[in-house]
Amino acid sequence: MPCPCCQGVLELFDRRRRSQILESGEKQWLLIRRLHCVDCNKIHHELPDVLVPYKRHEASSIEQVTKNRESSSVSADESTLNRWRSWFAWWAPYACGCLEALRQRFPLCVEASSCPAQSALGSAGGWLARAVRPIVNAHLYITTRSAWMSTKIGGRFMPDSLL
Ligand SMILES: [Zn+2]
Repeated sequence: MPCPCCQGVLELFDRRRRSQILESGEKQWLLIRRLHCVDCNKIHHELPDVLVPYKRHEASSIEQVTKNRESSSVSADESTLNRWRSWFAWWAPYACGCLEALRQRFPLCVEASSCPAQSALGSAGGWLARAVRPIVNAHLYITTRSAWMSTKIGGRFMPDSLL
């Protein structure tokens, strides 16, 4: 797998434990690999399909809640569900802009149907994780918390807060 930024060579940097909350409310531990690009010096997290950066719940739960305004089978309190909905209302237009820009730069990396606002209206499941991945890979993922921590690697500071 080449570096998503420069196509350079990636080597294993370390592994981090990361928890996620399943639809049922159960907690599950995942081991996330961090990869270092020897060419551009960036650190990349290997993001599993089930995760959205900064979110503790699995992507399919968030997807379900943002899609169905009234009912969902997700075990989370009402304030969490409302937070996801307002996050998504803010994030979806930004994500569409990113995906459109990426599609123009790298036509093969972004699926034609991965615009979350369009997909939310009724396409196959998994669209949230599909939309998140190319944005994260291009280092364009931003958060309302804007809490970008940095890791110092070889004298340069790199964003390192996707988990
Ligand atoms: Zn690179």
